[in-house]
Amino acid sequence: MTPQKRILTGDRPTGKYHLGHYVGSIANRLRLQNDYECYFIIADLHTLTTKPNKAEVMGIEQNIRDMIIDQLACGLDPDKVTFYVQSSVKEIYQINLIFEMLVSVARLSRLPSIKDMARAAQIDDDQLPLGLLGYPVLQAADILMPRAHLVPVGKDNEAHVEITREIARRFNFLYGEVFPEPDVLVPDSGTLIGTDGQAKMSKSLNNTILLSDDAKTVEQKVRGMYTDPNRTRADIPGKVEGNPVFIYHDMFNPDVAEVNDLKDRYRTGNVGDVEVKKKLAVAINNFLEPMRERRAIYEAKPNLVDEILAAGNAKTRKIAQETVRMMDEAMGLLYFKN
Ligand code: ATP
Ligand code: MG
Repeated sequence: MTPQKRILTGDRPTGKYHLGHYVGSIANRLRLQNDYECYFIIADLHTLTTKPNKAEVMGIEQNIRDMIIDQLACGLDPDKVTFYVQSSVKEIYQINLIFEMLVSVARLSRLPSIKDMARAAQIDDDQLPLGLLGYPVLQAADILMPRAHLVPVGKDNEAHVEITREIARRFNFLYGEVFPEPDVLVPDSGTLIGTDGQAKMSKSLNNTILLSDDAKTVEQKVRGMYTDPNRTRADIPGKVEGNPVFIYHDMFNPDVAEVNDLKDRYRTGNVGDVEVKKKLAVAINNFLEPMRERRAIYEAKPNLVDEILAAGNAKTRKIAQETVRMMDEAMGLLYFKN
């Protein structure tokens, strides 16, 4: 049997996952876990690139717990997937430092994503932290640490993985073949629209439905969803295309006949928004129900998450140590190590 290819993916610990995260990345992870050796990072150090203040750091632990429980609730299996926390694998810091020698400041400065992140965090050009400029280098350390072959990322991250590939090539060229040149895997799922009709469901836009929302909260959020604004009465024909309520129906309601019937009646002014939304809330709650059942198991045994992370961290550290040894040997960085 040929060994499975390795996958590295993950998120910054910014808090609970929402339906957008599910559609855009977790659904893909559920498929990948069966066919690949998966390493799923919680990239807490990346948070510090724009938010180094202590109050932020203090919130990270709870975010990590929430995000691991969310992923377990989705059906990611800790026997198949290795979950770990970036800062617990100190070798990543070492690898990062070596990689900093292999990429130019000019190359990093040209990336629009760095400027976008700085702008979003309201950081002026002359205050740009070295660590933020080095964000893609730290990402390269994350990806190459387990010598990953594949990196599932959102579209916005493709340019960063290109930096990883360049660093891998440069390292291999200078010192000998240690790293695979990882390929990106961009899911074709697209972006889930927000409950308010804005293009992206996002925590910062406050237009999310969380995977951990209870049934009542889902009903409330769906009731408040943006629909066709011209439709002030149930007998006015409405627009289905681009309407978030119907986009969600298409995505989360498996009863295609029901959805088609609602669409027909909506277009001809024969159904009220209340009914369309009620049925959507039922569909989303049905979708979330198996997650709620799995979540209950982990909430009843809080130590389970600690154990899963401890095991994942330990397993990852082993691989990281292996990689650092391979790097040291390739570089001839073997003197005075004790
Ligand atoms: P948020 O945007 O809610 O604040 P975040 O900033 O922590 O969350 P992102 O970095 O925006 O998360 O996204 C993390 C991953 O989830 C990426 O792969 C991204 O493509 C995916 N994702 C996030 N929101 C959506 C969405 N609305 N639709 C599809 N995919 C999404
Ligand atoms: Mg975001």
